[in-house]
Amino acid sequence: MAKIILSREAYFHNLDIIAQKVGEVSKIAVVLKDNAYGHGLLEMAKLSQEYGVLHAVVHNIGEAKQVERYFEDILILGGHSFVCHEKYRYVINSLEQIDLMSEGLQVELKVDTGMHRNGVAMDEVIQALERLSQKGLILKGVMTHNRSADTLSSEWFWQREHFKQVKNEVLSLQKALGFETPRFHSANSAATFRFQNFDEDLVRVGIAAYGCLEMDETLAQPPLKPVLSLYAEKIATRRLKAGEHVGYNATYRAKVDETVSTYDVGYADGLLRSASGYYSTPSGVKLLGRVSMDNTTFKSSEEELCIFNDVNRYAQSAETIGYEVLVGLHPEIERVVV
Ligand SMILES: *Cc1c(COP(=O)(O)O)cnc(C)c1O
Repeated sequence: MAKIILSREAYFHNLDIIAQKVGEVSKIAVVLKDNAYGHGLLEMAKLSQEYGVLHAVVHNIGEAKQVERYFEDILILGGHSFVCHEKYRYVINSLEQIDLMSEGLQVELKVDTGMHRNGVAMDEVIQALERLSQKGLILKGVMTHNRSADTLSSEWFWQREHFKQVKNEVLSLQKALGFETPRFHSANSAATFRFQNFDEDLVRVGIAAYGCLEMDETLAQPPLKPVLSLYAEKIATRRLKAGEHVGYNATYRAKVDETVSTYDVGYADGLLRSASGYYSTPSGVKLLGRVSMDNTTFKSSEEELCIFNDVNRYAQSAETIGYEVLVGLHPEIERVVV
């Protein structure tokens, strides 16, 4: 059976590096959305708790319910239904959303400081705060999201200036509107490593915690370790004669007689088909021909193969990013923490 191995040592190593960067573990919120980037929601929630992480970020209420016992609070990024729960905080993505929410819900206001994806515009902040107050919603945080923190340019700096303006505006109005001081946060993984002296209340780290952060070559690269490795088991071995082909549409042709095997992982498991023919495993074993739905041929006869232990290398062969490969890993593949 294909399986996913999760390294506790690598995860804790990454959290150590992040904690050192931001000053204290209590400023880390782990992003567990989308099955913890394919790592396994419960597995990563439990490991996070074991490390001492207090805050989590998820995509929807379904995920929040599964992990609520492990954290002090959970920030819910999306969704259209809202239940009142002492640990849940809902991100406000637009002014209109405020009208759909009922009194007593805890919320964090997202402000669009330049990414132009979600959040209220900077010139809508006052209006948003007034509406939140009128509705009896409880403001727990104010946040933004960076669009290009992983590249060296002025982008990160001007978005940071915009967020500072927002922060000052909120701080000057908050008391009069009956809110306690909210937490302020803007940093995803890449942004976390752009700070010289971290001065916000929280970082929302996903890809760095999983050890797969990629920054521009010109930016300092923290020494993170990938947490996840994908393994597959052999199904069948055969001897190919020179000139014979492997798999659908015969895209691989043996130049000499050779031994090849199929392994029990395919695109139904999340092994992207676009890497077909281009990829070699960490031990240098070549992927031959096309990735099939439930199996893939490699030039090997070993019983078990490590398909990847650094997802970014696989993603590169598939012409995508590690995030996409990770979240596509089928939730039913067994996750084993070692
Ligand atoms: C996904 C997400 C993050 C985490 O991003 P990484 O690059 O994985 O660290 C942080 N904040 C928000 C709002 C997100 O949607």
